[in-house]
Amino acid sequence: MWKTIRIALLLLVLLGVAVHTWLDRVATQGWHEAIWVGIFPLNADGSAAGQHYIENLTVKDFAPIEDFLAREGHRYGLALEQPVHVELYSQGTRLPPSLAADAGPLGVAWWSLKLRWFAARATSVPGRAPPRIRMFALYHDPATLERAPDSHGLQKGLIGVAHLFADPAMAGANDIVITHELLHTVGASDKYDLASGAPLFPIGFGDRHRQPLYPQDEAEIMAGRRALSANEWEMPGSLRSVVVGPETALEIRWTH
Ligand SMILES: [Zn+2]
Repeated sequence: MWKTIRIALLLLVLLGVAVHTWLDRVATQGWHEAIWVGIFPLNADGSAAGQHYIENLTVKDFAPIEDFLAREGHRYGLALEQPVHVELYSQGTRLPPSLAADAGPLGVAWWSLKLRWFAARATSVPGRAPPRIRMFALYHDPATLERAPDSHGLQKGLIGVAHLFADPAMAGANDIVITHELLHTVGASDKYDLASGAPLFPIGFGDRHRQPLYPQDEAEIMAGRRALSANEWEMPGSLRSVVVGPETALEIRWTH
């Protein structure tokens, strides 16, 4: 008897999660109205540089993300004028759980559960409507960190964790990282070689038909880097030199 009830309850919870995930997907891939994205800044290393940078952030710093998605959406014939609306929230105090580099499938599943639990508590602001997508923006002092840890964007839960540099000169690159993770949450997949970082041809190239092919002027957003030659690539300085490729547009249901 109790066993049956326990199993029934568990099935109910699983069903609830599945329905919730499905509703999230419908809401974020319909593109009938702007998706609200909340940026939650965090001082990743507790540095003075990080703190100073966060205190000077304004919502305008993220306007290039809105502009980029409006420009690219328009290129794919999206009727919606503004696909995303970005809101800036006040600085949080706790950092999201980190994912170990060697985590297996179970480790990743456990981490994503912990992240969803963390996000539920860290992003509820009394009197403010919760954003559809929650993006944790973790700022690091570039003086003490050569390479930022891997960023993540989860479609299940609509949560992003973006590791960024607390440096005004890196603001454009930060917006590229945030937009890349943001598009993961709405269904886009990576388009670079996970081992080397090289943009994949043709899906990770800004202009696959370019003659000669190299150097590429633009990066595909889910590759994140533009190929300069067969074995050199770089992240552009801003979203002005980035495009959404046709495969990404299809994955996020801008095209069908
Ligand atoms: Zn990615």
